[in-house]
Amino acid sequence: MNIREYEVKVQLPAELKPLETMAYNLWFAWNSPATAIYKNINEKLWEESEHNPLAVISALTMDDCKRLMDDDVFMASLNDVYEDFQQYMSLPRWFNKAHKNASDMLVAYFSAEYGIHESVQLYSGGLGILSGDHCKSTSDMGIPLVAVGLLYRNGYFHQYMSSDGWQQERYPYNEFYLMPLKRAEDKNGKEITLEMKIGERNIKIRVWKLKVGLMEIVLLDTDVPENHPDDRIITGKLYDGDSNMRIRQEIVLGVAGVRALAAMGLHPTVYHLNEGHPAFVSIERLKQLIEQGIDMRLATEIVRKSTLFTTHTPVPAGFDVFSMDQIKQYLSGIYEPVGINLNMLMSFGRKDRSNTAEPFNMAVCGINLSTYRNGVAKLHGKVSREMFHSMWSQAILSQVPIGHVTNGVHLPTFMSSDMKNILSRYVSEDWSSKPYDFDIWEKVNNIPDNVLFDMKRNQRERLVSFIRRTTKETIHKNGGSASELLAAEDILNPDALTIGFARRFATYKRGYLLFMDEERLKRLFSNPERPIQFIIAGKAHPKDNEGKEIIKQIIHIAKKPEFRKHIVFIEDYDIEVARYMTRGVDIWLNNPRRPMEASGTSGMKASANGALNLSILDGWWDEGFNGKNGWAIGAGEEYPDNGYQDYVESMEIYNILEKDIIPVFYAKDKSGMPREWLKMVKENLKTVPSYFNTSRMLIDYANQYYVPLHELQKEFNANSYEEAKKYLNWYNQILDRWDGVSFISSEVEVANGFVPGETVKFKAQINTNGTAAEHLGVFAVVEYDGESGNLKNPEFIRLYQEKSSDMFSESYTLTRSGKLKVGFLVTPFHRFLKNPFELNKAKWA
Ligand SMILES: *Cc1c(COP(=O)(O)O)cnc(C)c1O
Repeated sequence: MNIREYEVKVQLPAELKPLETMAYNLWFAWNSPATAIYKNINEKLWEESEHNPLAVISALTMDDCKRLMDDDVFMASLNDVYEDFQQYMSLPRWFNKAHKNASDMLVAYFSAEYGIHESVQLYSGGLGILSGDHCKSTSDMGIPLVAVGLLYRNGYFHQYMSSDGWQQERYPYNEFYLMPLKRAEDKNGKEITLEMKIGERNIKIRVWKLKVGLMEIVLLDTDVPENHPDDRIITGKLYDGDSNMRIRQEIVLGVAGVRALAAMGLHPTVYHLNEGHPAFVSIERLKQLIEQGIDMRLATEIVRKSTLFTTHTPVPAGFDVFSMDQIKQYLSGIYEPVGINLNMLMSFGRKDRSNTAEPFNMAVCGINLSTYRNGVAKLHGKVSREMFHSMWSQAILSQVPIGHVTNGVHLPTFMSSDMKNILSRYVSEDWSSKPYDFDIWEKVNNIPDNVLFDMKRNQRERLVSFIRRTTKETIHKNGGSASELLAAEDILNPDALTIGFARRFATYKRGYLLFMDEERLKRLFSNPERPIQFIIAGKAHPKDNEGKEIIKQIIHIAKKPEFRKHIVFIEDYDIEVARYMTRGVDIWLNNPRRPMEASGTSGMKASANGALNLSILDGWWDEGFNGKNGWAIGAGEEYPDNGYQDYVESMEIYNILEKDIIPVFYAKDKSGMPREWLKMVKENLKTVPSYFNTSRMLIDYANQYYVPLHELQKEFNANSYEEAKKYLNWYNQILDRWDGVSFISSEVEVANGFVPGETVKFKAQINTNGTAAEHLGVFAVVEYDGESGNLKNPEFIRLYQEKSSDMFSESYTLTRSGKLKVGFLVTPFHRFLKNPFELNKAKWA
C-alpha cells in the first residue's frame, strides 16, 4: 500500500486571518484572553489537542468560518485580542532605550530544550522552562536574540501510573504541521535543508522557525524521510538513548545550529551557550573562521571574545562527558580537514589540557572557549567557582572567573489573570512592562486584604476542581468503577491550607522527606478545624528506578484511607499542571539537599501568585528568603551524613508546619481575615516577584554579558582583526617574560598611623623583566577583618607606575577601624581580559 500525504494548508477568510496569525505566534502562551478565543471555538478539540490553537483552526470547515464571522460577540473579542497582539508587537522596548548604541548586536542563544506552552512539547523540565522564559522576556525587552534548539519528534515522555504506582512512560508524537512552525528560508527564499556527515553517514537536517512574540527559535529536525532510520531519531527524544545518541544530538544542536544561522543569513555577534549541551558551537565557529584563512590561535581567541557560557549544575556528574573514541568517531571527520586534530579537540574539553586521560567534558569546553561564564543563582555561582577552581589555580576562590545571574520566571506566563488584574488595579498598570521596577512593588500594600484572600480562595478552588476532573479522567481511562469515580468527587478541600510539591523525582530533591514519619503526618491531618492537604507531582527519569520507587511510595501512602482525601499525586507534571499548582497552593515546599539545587524556579511561580515558600536555603531561596517572606528549613547547613540530615530536616518541616504555618494560616480575625498570613503574603509579593522574574534576569544578562561581549568582539575584530592580532602579540610577549617578573619590594606607607580618615600609600617595586608597565596589573588587594592570612572577597586597588621607574603606587583612604589585610599582586593586564586571573598567571609579594 502506498499512502501519500499532502499538507492542506490552513487558509482562513480575511476576517479570520488574525486567528491564523496569532496561532503562529506563541504570544498566546502568556495571554489567556487569546487562548480563550480558541477554546471557545471548540472546547473539546482544545482540550484533546493540549490547548493547540492551530489544531483548533485547522479543523474549521468553511461553514464553521461563516458561523464565526456571523457571531458579533466572537468577532468583537477576536478583534480586541488581535489589537492587544499588535500593540504588543509594536511597543517601545527597554533594550532600544537602554542600549541605543548596541542596535547592531545579535545574540545567538543555544539550548537543548524550550518549554513555552503545553502544546509545544520540546522540553523536559526546569532547563526548558527557563529557556522558554528567556525567549519570552527577550521579546518583551526587545533584546535582539535568536534562539536555536532541536525539533523533537517525540520530546519528553508523558507519565502515567500502573495500578501499583509504578511510573509508566508514553512518548507523544509531535505533528509538525499542527505546530506553529514555518520552514526557515535562505536569502533567495528557498527552504533550508542542511547536509552534514555525522559518524558514518551523511544526514539531512531541516531547519524550522517558531515565533515567540518578536523573536524566533530556530529548530533543527533530522526526521527527514531520506535519512537512515537511526539518523531520523536523532531529534526524536529528549535525554533518552545512550551516549552516542547524546553526542549526535549535540552535534546537530551545536554544529548544524551554527550552520543554520549562517544559511539564514544571520550574523550573530554574541553566542550564549545555555548549559554544556551546545558547546560544539564554539568548535564549529572555530572551523568557519579557519576556513576564512584565520589561523587557529587567532580564531580561538575570536570565538572566546564573543561567547558566554551558562552552567546549570552544581555537581560534576551533571555534565555530559564523551570519550576520546567518541570525539574521534564523530568530530574528527569534521574538524581534521581544517587542521583541528584530535588532541586539540580533546584539549578544549579538558580541565587540565596536558592530562591525556581526561575525557571530553562539554561544560569544560564551554568554559575554555568563552570570556564570560555564569551560574544561575548567587550560591550556585559560588559552588561553580569551587567546582572549577582547579582551572584557575592561581586565583583566589572568589575571583575565579565565573559569575552568576539568578534565574527568574516569566511573570505573565505563570501569574493567574486574577493576580494580574489585582496588580494592575491596586499596584500599577506598569507591573507587566516593568516588573523589574522595585518602586512599583512597594505599592503592594495598597491591595486590600480581602481582595488577596478571595483571589487565593478562587485559585485554590480552580486547582481543586482541576485535580478532581483529571483524577476522574484517569480513573475512567483505567476502567475504574463508579464508586471510585464518586470518591474522586470529594478529594481535597478548597478552603484547606494547601501545600504543593512538584519537581523532577531526582534523589537529591528528596521527595520522600515529608513522608518520613507517617505518625507525625497523621497528626498534622488530625485537626478538623485546621484542615491541610498536599498536592504532589513530578516525573522520574525513565532510567531512574530510585526516583520511581519514591513516587511509588508516595502514591502508596496517598492511597491510605486516612490520607486519601488530603494527599494527591497528580500524574504527568507539565507546564499546565505547574500553572494550576503554583497558582492554587498556599505553601510551596522545596527540600533539596543543599547545595544540589542550582536555582529552582517553581517556588518563584508560586510566590508570584501569593503563595509562601517553605524551602531549604538552596538555589534561589538562599538569596530570596528575608526572614519575613516565607520559611527556611534549616539555616544553610551542609551535612556529611545524608541519613542524619534527612531526619533533622524532615523533623524541621513538621515542626514549622505545626508551630508556624498552620497556626498563622488559621489565625483569623473577626472579619475572617488571617491578617498575619496576608502580611507575609504581601511581604513576599514585594520581595520575590519583583526580583525573581526573567525581565530582571534579561537586564542582568544584557548589562553584565551581552552588551559587554558585543562591544568586546567589535573592538577585537575591527579592521580585519588588527586589535586581536596585537593582543596575541602581547600575549606571546607576556608568556615569554612572565617567569622573570617578580616583586622586589612592597609596602604600605603611612604618615600618621592607621586611623580612619588617614590616607596611606600602597607601593610595590617590580622587576618587570622588560614588560611595559601598562601590561602589568599591579594591585594592592585589600580586605577588612576576617580570617588572617586569607583574602575572601577583597577589593582590588590598581597601582600605577611612578614616572618611568619600576615603582608602582596608589593612595588609599582608610574608612574604618578593624583588621586591614593587604596583599600585593601582579598579573598580566590587558583591556581585553575581563578578570585579573583569566590567564591563570599571578604572582603575590
Ligand atoms: C517551573 C517548572 C520546572 C522547574 O522546576 P524546579 O524544580 O523549580 O527547578 C519544571 N517543570 C515544569 C513543568 C515547570 O513548569
